[in-house]
Amino acid sequence: MSAVIYARFSSDNQREESITAQVRACTEYARRKGYPVVKVYTDEARSATTDDRPGFLKMIDDIKSGRVEAQFLLVHKLDRFARNRYDSAVYRRTLASAGIRLIAVDQPLDDSPESVLLESLLEGLAEYYSKNLSREVMKGMKENAYQARFNGGWVPLGYNVIDGHYSINEQEAPVIRLIFSMFLQGHGYIKIMDKLNELGYLTRQGRPFGKNSIYEILRNPKYAGYYTYNRAPRRLNGKRNWRIRKDEGEIITVPGAVPAIIPEEDFKKVQEIMDGRKKTGPRQKSGELYFLTGKVVCGECGAAMVGNSSSRKAGAEPVRYYECNRKMRTRDCGSRRIRKDYLENYVLGVVEQNMFSRDKLPELAGKLVMLARDKGRQNARDEKVFNDELADIDKKIGNIVKAIEDGAEYDILSGRLKELKKRKEEIQEHLNTLRTPLSDITEEMIIKYLSATQKDMMDRPDQLSKKKIVDLYVHEIKVFSDKVDVMLKLDFGADKDGVGGGT
Ligand SMILES: [Zn+2]
Repeated sequence: MSAVIYARFSSDNQREESITAQVRACTEYARRKGYPVVKVYTDEARSATTDDRPGFLKMIDDIKSGRVEAQFLLVHKLDRFARNRYDSAVYRRTLASAGIRLIAVDQPLDDSPESVLLESLLEGLAEYYSKNLSREVMKGMKENAYQARFNGGWVPLGYNVIDGHYSINEQEAPVIRLIFSMFLQGHGYIKIMDKLNELGYLTRQGRPFGKNSIYEILRNPKYAGYYTYNRAPRRLNGKRNWRIRKDEGEIITVPGAVPAIIPEEDFKKVQEIMDGRKKTGPRQKSGELYFLTGKVVCGECGAAMVGNSSSRKAGAEPVRYYECNRKMRTRDCGSRRIRKDYLENYVLGVVEQNMFSRDKLPELAGKLVMLARDKGRQNARDEKVFNDELADIDKKIGNIVKAIEDGAEYDILSGRLKELKKRKEEIQEHLNTLRTPLSDITEEMIIKYLSATQKDMMDRPDQLSKKKIVDLYVHEIKVFSDKVDVMLKLDFGADKDGVGGGT
């Protein structure tokens, strides 16, 4: 959990807090909540009405491009963030799609762990249902897929599409063959990249090859003649996320439906090599991720507990545990260490029992329905703001077109016209993200969704998935010498029985 701070000051308003005071208030809040501040952005305008906010725009740009990563944006008061309703609607959507929560530290706003949890659950829920709603659209695309017809988007390098069917582009195919054969000879991405760039080859988008473009080509089954559709899920913002693979059931594969550029056995060999590399990566190297870190504190002295390991014999599997950080550094605490797998399993068990048990689900669903209604109303308000803006832009475009027809100089107006069209596209994109049927969500839908997610999450054995569950649901874990207290973000008044600790 980390935060960025934004402060703005306009000198014509005498009653405003200075930037220093705003930043101080935000920093103090972050300290209290335990969020490290990763960056501070400020703007000092001569007048509140000037449109000049370089600091703000830089921040939005950093957030969009992922240059700055945080879970919270802290401002002193809400009016520091947006100057009008349109601004507010646009930039709140930007924050939401980057997973950032806006908090005005001086205004009573609900930022309890409970509401943070409910919001992230609701986000997952909205995504789940918008995916299901798009099934109808998908049906038509699936039909295309079975006929191995082109479904739109980029044509992969090495192919042409004629009348909706794939054929090999003999000018480009050698590039694909070179990439596969170099990889099979044991060359790495950098070596392949250098060779391609040296030969002057470009990607489909007309850019020099990078690591990602080579990765995507080596992973694309079309080159072995397999037609696949629905390889990557779309995010809410419409962009595909290629690194996450869909469940096999949702992928349509039609072997031999596309002319192959690479022999099937070569393609398979490449996939095996790539899978192997992934498995030996540092992350998967057996249980070294202490995923409770940051949530566990020592019940005796309040210091953080951190992961550690020791092995009694050389070569033996080490014993892993969590230990009080103060004790480790200064020996100034009488607490005992606790076994890693024991504590982790206990915490996951508590989450499973309390968040997902049959009798707790209706209460959780009830809270989510309320939140969904609130959000739905907010979305409806935003939609109106965006639609008004769209109408306004259309009017302006109409005026320009008319002026050009009436003989005004095109060159002068074309820049303005382009600008308006670009804004129109942006607004339409925002409108698309608003079209989740939040106010139609019922308790039954939520229970169905939560039961599905529960199974999904608890069945997954890998450490990263477990970390996600803990991050989402657990507020804090206190380890005492004779018991463990797990505080969940959502309090159902559950029994708070601890269990014995120790090694
Ligand atoms: Zn301690």
